[in-house]
Amino acid sequence: MTVDPGPPADGRPTAPDPLEVLLRVQDLDTALAQLAHRKTALPERADLRSATDRLADLDVRVAELEAEQATLLERQQEIERQVGTVVARRTSIEDRMYAARAPDVRDLQAMGEEVAHLDRRRNELEDHELEVMEQQEPIEGELTRLREDRGTLQAATIALASALHAAETVIDAEIATDAAARVIEAGRLPEALRARYEALRAKLGGVGAARLVGNRCSGCHLELPSVEVDRIRHLPPGTVATCDQCGRLLVRAALPGQ
Ligand SMILES: [Zn+2]
Repeated sequence: MTVDPGPPADGRPTAPDPLEVLLRVQDLDTALAQLAHRKTALPERADLRSATDRLADLDVRVAELEAEQATLLERQQEIERQVGTVVARRTSIEDRMYAARAPDVRDLQAMGEEVAHLDRRRNELEDHELEVMEQQEPIEGELTRLREDRGTLQAATIALASALHAAETVIDAEIATDAAARVIEAGRLPEALRARYEALRAKLGGVGAARLVGNRCSGCHLELPSVEVDRIRHLPPGTVATCDQCGRLLVRAALPGQ
């Protein structure tokens, strides 16, 4: 915000009216509070938070699916080990069958039965392996899709963080300007007035000084009794009035043209 530089210099240095300075300090404090609120409430901040939350949810889902995938892969490898054992056992029996010089018929029959049993076992295992592999397909599909989403979301998050930083930088510059002006203006206030203002401001939601506009206090927005307004209007210049209703320092607003 811009600050009213006060009455134009007419060659004579005039001491600033403390009540005018008080209002300028209040205006700057109000502007600083609004800037702080604007910084907190930047839409980029909410968007970034929501994108970060979605990213975290996505990471949880990806981790769940990866764990499922790892379990299925372990199961598949276990089945393959079992198939390997069955195949090795079958080969060893066949070797014995062909190596026998004068085989016993019952032995051969028993071995033949075991080979048949091993073949059935192998078929079962391979069917099971196929099922496990089929269970992995939708998980892989979903993981691929989620990883793509994650990439898009990650890029959006980076863009939002950068937009937030840019918006904050603009507000920070305004805050720095107003804060510097506030230091200068507050330094012009008489110590006692400044202390009263600061105490009221701390107690009354950041507004320690208000304008009397018509019959109304701009701090509490309540109307003052006409007698009280009349009394304040006739106070000697520079006298500090207070609002009976909210307790704020009350400054007569200059009439247009004054
Ligand atoms: Zn008031």
